[in-house]
Amino acid sequence: MTGAITRFAPSPNGPLHLGHAYAAIVAHDRAHADGGEFLLRIEDIDGVRSRPELAAEFRDDLAWLGLTWREVPAQSTRIAAYRDAFASLLTMGLVYPCVCTRSDVARAATRLGPDGPVYPSTCLRRGVAPGRDVVWRIDMEQAADLAGPLTWRDERRGGQNARPDLFGDVVLWRKDVPASYHLAATIDDAADGVSVVTRGADLFAASHVHRLLQVLLGLPEPVWHHHPLLVEADGRKLAKRRGAPALGDRRRAGEDGRSVAAELRATLFDTGLSLSDCVDPEP
Ligand code: GLU
Repeated sequence: MTGAITRFAPSPNGPLHLGHAYAAIVAHDRAHADGGEFLLRIEDIDGVRSRPELAAEFRDDLAWLGLTWREVPAQSTRIAAYRDAFASLLTMGLVYPCVCTRSDVARAATRLGPDGPVYPSTCLRRGVAPGRDVVWRIDMEQAADLAGPLTWRDERRGGQNARPDLFGDVVLWRKDVPASYHLAATIDDAADGVSVVTRGADLFAASHVHRLLQVLLGLPEPVWHHHPLLVEADGRKLAKRRGAPALGDRRRAGEDGRSVAAELRATLFDTGLSLSDCVDPEP
């Protein structure tokens, strides 16, 4: 296959809304534009919040929008691959155990990163024994030194210098959710042969970390395509908790999904929504 392989990777934590429909359409159309393939991957790694029954809803929603796809294995079936990747990072001496709570991190942080307070490597400096209640963080300084300067490319924003240091020592492994989003998504995209990683601009910065993990784990380098997000008239990201209607409800109410998709493709519709590359920070 020479065309782009893209994916839509929803987490079954809540129903899909118009913002998800837009993300799926961007990925679908990007693949079809050059004879590639569009994949669906259910990101159900968050055991506590995951509602497996939603995966069936997601498929019905995508079909209602008139999309076709190939589904690849859900994250919950790939824990062994995540464990192997984590084990290699451990062997390379690039991860360390940490016992700090979220509020410890907030108190000790001296700077803010793309995901909030940056962990000041407290447990790396004081040394903590591995145990049942630890999380494992990447030693970002050492990992970035080992990888050397890295670049990556976004189809919309062009070449980027990778800045994983912005995030500090992110958590890669914890006991309740075995692999972090960063580790799981990086491994999955490689395993699924994704060549153009399409996702919302709110995850733009995460690609700095993913690029680093790709190099450390010897995975191929894709291109990224971070699309703008659908926003409310006040500029805020669409969210279920702010009343964005679920696609499933619209589907069951008898709306025509293909017309909804056509409106989204035109991105000019009378719902008061627009596209933005900037999003308000989540509360
Ligand atoms: N599972 C993520 C979400 O639902 C998407 C992550 C990605 O596309 O990399 O927001």
